[in-house]
Amino acid sequence: MNNRFTDRRWVPGLAAGLGLIPPPIRARARFAVFQGDPLFAGLHASEATEEDQRSYRVTPHVCYPSHLNGRPRAERLLTLVLTGFDDYHGSPFVAVHEFGHLLDYSTGLSHAAVAYCDYAATSRDEAYASAFTQWVWERNPLPRAADQWQDSGGLDQSDRWYFDWLAVA
Ligand SMILES: [Zn+2]
Repeated sequence: MNNRFTDRRWVPGLAAGLGLIPPPIRARARFAVFQGDPLFAGLHASEATEEDQRSYRVTPHVCYPSHLNGRPRAERLLTLVLTGFDDYHGSPFVAVHEFGHLLDYSTGLSHAAVAYCDYAATSRDEAYASAFTQWVWERNPLPRAADQWQDSGGLDQSDRWYFDWLAVA
């Protein structure tokens, strides 16, 4: 695994998305980037995501170190896997959502966010990443990509305070 960008199509959306995140929060997550087929590289034992059975091959996602048991111990880093590029997956919205997973892990999986939309309700981890994305979009009122994460209600106040605090602490 390495941190080289072999497919530069991802760069504009990542740069725009990560640029929306307050620097104190951005600095909390240290992670590796992997581009390519995650199954071929041995990152996953199975192909389907837990949430909705999309293939890891074609879905950007985050691997926790404990997920990477097919890799040498020294390579078991928190990893952002960029795969399945299209206009939506390469959007700032998806970059911010995936950063939410990196932030969640980097803060010890210590905050249980309220699921504010259907996708967020699929798991504790998706609740966190979706709440983080919603919080970023509240602060940066930009157009959303057409996607399944339509805003279906406001962010829970306790989550707003939690992310506000991370941004200054
Ligand atoms: Zn997610």
